[in-house]
Amino acid sequence: MKVTGLDKDGGQQLNGVKATDTETGKEYKFKTRGIINCTGVFVDDILEMDDPAIKRKIVASQGVHLVLDRSFLPGDNALMIPKTSDGRVLFAVPWHNKVVVGTTDNPVNEISLDPVAMEKEIQFILETAGQYLEKPRSEAM
Ligand SMILES: Cc1cc2nc3c(=O)[nH]c(=O)nc-3n(C[C@H](O)[C@H](O)[C@H](O)COP(=O)(O)OP(=O)(O)OC[C@H]3O[C@@H](n4cnc5c(N)ncnc54)[C@H](O)[C@@H]3O)c2cc1C
Repeated sequence: MKVTGLDKDGGQQLNGVKATDTETGKEYKFKTRGIINCTGVFVDDILEMDDPAIKRKIVASQGVHLVLDRSFLPGDNALMIPKTSDGRVLFAVPWHNKVVVGTTDNPVNEISLDPVAMEKEIQFILETAGQYLEKPRSEAM
């Protein structure tokens, strides 16, 4: 259900939400006694439904992981690289037969429900992890 609007009573007290079932497209109106806005980076969108003039507060960034073959980090221990070129840390965590490496942290202007990895994020992870992860030569061939 996606909240698409808020309702108010005569005294301008919020008392309902409009929502759309995004699978069927059916629209609903719910009466509410209280509304909790816990929409993460989208929190300002909901606040604007109450007051279109409200000052937006969220400064968004996105982060991605890459999923590599487990042979890059055999064993059960995770690895933390404590100092990276962007002043953060990078984790490599064994996960089933894969190893998950990340994250990045890049400011974005457009906030998306379905963010896509930027080329520079992929390169950053590969270059940083590549200084520490290595396949034995026989496997790399
Ligand atoms: C690169 C990066 C690294 C991070 N690393 C860490 C970390 O190491 N540790 C840590 O604790 N935090 C970390 N964070 C922060 C953490 O991811 C967020 O603070 C956390 O996910 C926010 O949780 P939330 O429940 O507030 O929002 P979300 O988890 O974003 O949930 C919001 C939900 O609201 C829904 N929604 C949005 N709009 C609507 C609408 N109109 N109607 C209905 N539903 C809606 C969304 O679909 C979503 O399900 C990181 C963030 C980034 C960007």
